[in-house]
Amino acid sequence: MQHRTRPQTKARTAVIIGGGVAGPVAAMALRMAGIEATVYEAHEPGSGSRGGPLSVAPNGRAALGLVGADDILTELATPTRRMVIRSYTGKILAEIPEPPGQAPRLTLPRGQLSAELQRLAAAEGIELVHGKRFVDATDTGRSVIARFDDHTTAEADVLIGCDGIRSAVRAVVDPRAPGPRYTGLVSFGGYVDGTGVPDTAGAQYFMFGRRAFFGYQVEGDECAWFANLPVKGLASGGLEATGYEHWIEALRTAFARDNGPALEILDRVTPEKFIPAHKLEDLPHTPVWSRGRAVLVGDAAHATSPSSGQGASLAAESAIELARCLRDLPIDQAFRAYHRNRRERVERIIAIAARTNQAKAAGPIAARIRDLVLPIIMGRFNTPERTAWQYDYRINWEEVA
Ligand SMILES: Cc1cc2nc3c(=O)[nH]c(=O)nc-3n(C[C@H](O)[C@H](O)[C@H](O)COP(=O)(O)OP(=O)(O)OC[C@H]3O[C@@H](n4cnc5c(N)ncnc54)[C@H](O)[C@@H]3O)c2cc1C
Repeated sequence: MQHRTRPQTKARTAVIIGGGVAGPVAAMALRMAGIEATVYEAHEPGSGSRGGPLSVAPNGRAALGLVGADDILTELATPTRRMVIRSYTGKILAEIPEPPGQAPRLTLPRGQLSAELQRLAAAEGIELVHGKRFVDATDTGRSVIARFDDHTTAEADVLIGCDGIRSAVRAVVDPRAPGPRYTGLVSFGGYVDGTGVPDTAGAQYFMFGRRAFFGYQVEGDECAWFANLPVKGLASGGLEATGYEHWIEALRTAFARDNGPALEILDRVTPEKFIPAHKLEDLPHTPVWSRGRAVLVGDAAHATSPSSGQGASLAAESAIELARCLRDLPIDQAFRAYHRNRRERVERIIAIAARTNQAKAAGPIAARIRDLVLPIIMGRFNTPERTAWQYDYRINWEEVA
């Protein structure tokens, strides 16, 4: 992208690439800031699967609440009031009660979160254009022109890349930007019923198995589950060749000797209910978040692996913080302030998730040490006081950036 002059004016219009979480939230927050945005999404509406379970943390709920999305999610999602972590023997390693004074985490299908945010943005009159895959952009010095793979274009004062961990806008901002890092884990998950596993009464259970990590929550008859399986040698692709039969067998083998309901739950996963495996990846450090009139938000700038349970929450926070900065500052200053205000927080959470991934992929000796040490660490560090910086975080929308 060419960049001739430094933009010094405030933005009035925005082209947003990506309609996942950050995109619709940014569009709604920008509207509150008096900036008109159009969202361009590569996929057609409803073309994705419902998705496996995703949890929105209290800080993410607060961010979504600023754009009026929290009430809708509360109606749709399952509250997670308590978390229980066990070892493969069934021994409880840690119990994390609902933080006092906090709204509970909300768990809902990943695809449903995006669909609801898109619906809410559209209801507010924000234009969402589907089937538009961004490929490139030109900074004219006075505006930015985005180009799509159908040879159409869109022009605005700023280009906001909310296009996820494999962002195409990132290459426009910095052609040398690092790409996603494979964590060594492959993730599975979905929703099944009829498992026979009793309602967990608002608790989510996690198990460090002998060979893999398992999580589930049952509400009524419906069970939300996920599993993280260590798989070596996937750094450069390789998931596409394997499907349901292969992975279900791999998961059944991994959990065969563990004490917990993983096998009963996996028994209910049919080929129709099987959601293709995801390589768990993160983006620990993206050195450049903006250039000229283009900026990155959400996973495009700072993807944490799902082990933090914070990716969507951080995407929503960043989208709102960017809108706040663009509301109050000329474009280049706004981008700098946004970067300054967000970087430390997101990178700290990404690093914590990376350590959790190591614990999930521990070998037999490391696993024994983990199971001895984890209760001590959780008791000391997973207190409401120690985790307040993550969950109590609030963007002060009223404050001038
Ligand atoms: C298996 C799994 C489990 C997860 N669990 C959790 C969890 O429990 N809690 C949590 O907070 N987070 C979780 N996450 C992470 C969370 O999904 C992301 O952090 C969050 O969705 C990031 O939002 P985003 O808007 O930045 O990106 P995305 O939600 O990825 O949205 C990007 C959008 O951009 C579109 N797009 C991509 N390229 C283009 C292009 N060239 N042109 C136009 N559009 C494009 C995509 O189609 C997509 O709709 C999980 C992720 C995975 C993979």
